[in-house]
Order: sequence, then C-alpha cells, then structure tokens
Amino acid sequence: MSYPPPDDRLRHLLAQQINCHVDTWKLAFFIAGAIADNPEIRAEIDRIGAAHNTGQHCGDRNCQACFEATTTTA
Ligand SMILES: [Zn+2]
Repeated sequence: MSYPPPDDRLRHLLAQQINCHVDTWKLAFFIAGAIADNPEIRAEIDRIGAAHNTGQHCGDRNCQACFEATTTTA
C-alpha cells in the first residue's frame, strides 16, 4: 500500500505539512480535511494547474513553478 493513498492524496499531503506545526496528527488531519473540501481552494488549485498546463503564468506571486520557469528559460 503506497503512501499517501491515491484516493485521499491531497488531504494526506496537506496533513503531513500541517502536522509539523500542530500538536496532534488528528488535528492536522482535521484541518487538512477542511482545506481539501473547500470549494474556493479547490477552484484555485484547478485554476493554477490549468494556467501552468497551457504555459501561462498563473499570476500567483509566490508560485515556485512560475519562478523556476522564468529562471530556467531566460
Ligand atoms: Zn504558477
């Protein structure tokens, strides 16, 4: 069985990251679930992914992928 599980990957990835900053895995997993279920957040992830797939800058000034694209193609 691979980890994170393919059918709950986003939530586990979020929980792993959150877990570094909170006391319990249970709390991390709860917060991750709330983030993963948020329609606005999901829409933004989709929007950023769609922009990158068409070679566009996603417009997020903190975006690591866009930063790397501008420094490697220059
Ligand atoms: Zn980007």
